[in-house]
Amino acid sequence: MEFTLSEANVLKMTIKIKNMPNLNTIAKNTWCPGCTNFFILTAFNKAVEEMVAEGFDKDKLFCAAGIGCHGKIADYINLNSCIALHGREAALASGAKLANPELTVVAFAGDGDAYAEGIEHLVHLAKRNSGISLFVHNNQVFGLTTGQATPTSPKGYRGRSTPFGSIDEPLNPLLVLLSSGATFVARAYAPDLKETQALMKRAMKHRGFAVIDIIQPCITFADTREHFRNHVQWLDPNAPRDDFEAAVKLIRQDGEKTLLGIFYEVAKPTFEEQA
Ligand code: SF4
Repeated sequence: MEFTLSEANVLKMTIKIKNMPNLNTIAKNTWCPGCTNFFILTAFNKAVEEMVAEGFDKDKLFCAAGIGCHGKIADYINLNSCIALHGREAALASGAKLANPELTVVAFAGDGDAYAEGIEHLVHLAKRNSGISLFVHNNQVFGLTTGQATPTSPKGYRGRSTPFGSIDEPLNPLLVLLSSGATFVARAYAPDLKETQALMKRAMKHRGFAVIDIIQPCITFADTREHFRNHVQWLDPNAPRDDFEAAVKLIRQDGEKTLLGIFYEVAKPTFEEQA
């Protein structure tokens, strides 16, 4: 298949600058001022910088992003990266990992992107334990297209596609991916920078399919900061998390608090190793 410049919105190569002192690029940032995507960008950059300080070669890191506000992250990180079709970032990332298993591969996604258009890819990538990390910017809304409901929007959410309130129950994506076979399943809250950074680093070092659902309030179309500020609770990062049934209970989070941290973490052969 050939790609031309007119298809740049389908597969976009980002101009990177060699020898920048950090992971920043010269691309103009167009996220809304105060967007919590900035926390995710910072947490990721710090996680990578920490790994580089420990001897990791950042040229062996490849990132794919999808379509949505989150997808612009590919322009803002001075790493090998590209933007995929809507919801196809994890499939693209898995292809890169299969082609070159030496790479550490990260897919950035949005909740509308990954859990609507892309959910079928995620189920199969979890099932085969593809050795990639998936970081989902879950703001519970399609932000780039100005506020339509996504699979994780809460019941009653009023937006452009649901002016009278969403009548759907929200999807619990981590429950879907845990039951599909993911071997590292975690949730983070973007404004909790240090904890998110530590989780990202641990996910990138994980051997197998690692997913972090990152709650990322969209301050323009779904400002959930007040709610989550008072309702998140981090789990002990050092507790063993290899019990599947216990993970299901934690992920279902029937209580008042939204639990954060690692719910499940086990080592299993990856798809690429076996292939
Ligand atoms: Fe961030 Fe929402 Fe603005 Fe998108 S629309 S940049 S998610 S605040």
